[in-house]
Amino acid sequence: MNNELLSRLEVLRVRLECEFAYSGETMIGNCLCKKIQFEIDGALPRLYQCHCSQCRKQSGATANTATVVNAEKFRWLAGQRNISTWRHDSGFRSHFCTTCGCPVPNPLGNLPYIWIPVGLLDKTGHKDVFAHIFVGSKADWENTPTSGLVYDTVPELSEFIAMLQQPVTP
Ligand SMILES: [Zn+2]
Ligand SMILES: [Zn+2]
Repeated sequence: MNNELLSRLEVLRVRLECEFAYSGETMIGNCLCKKIQFEIDGALPRLYQCHCSQCRKQSGATANTATVVNAEKFRWLAGQRNISTWRHDSGFRSHFCTTCGCPVPNPLGNLPYIWIPVGLLDKTGHKDVFAHIFVGSKADWENTPTSGLVYDTVPELSEFIAMLQQPVTP
């Protein structure tokens, strides 16, 4: 083998090692049409569902399922310019793919966290939903959740975010 081939093989080896080291550590998410793509490093924080009337309309279902990740662990891979935003008088914001209408991640106010609609991830590493919030305003056709923490409204925001960041004990 000549030196050039050896150095090319070395580059390939390092690249493979990097990809291998990150496999399972980085989660990829995308919208329905896949124009918008993002990735999240490390274990995903715990999941919650919000049963309020606004999340119900936005998701078209009983509740959305989401989490919040530290902004440093989040990266856009594609399509950020294809995101539209709509703001309700209440301050509720909806960020969605302009092409397919899918809800997409967005910054949590001016906090260093990103809100993640977890249905966009192919896998989450979680087996259950950790908490249900605004169950006091759930749809009357929805049964009260029987697992996870159940809140009529929501705990204080920074406290709630901290709860989500705690590692899941097996
Ligand atoms: Zn889309
Ligand atoms: Zn909500």
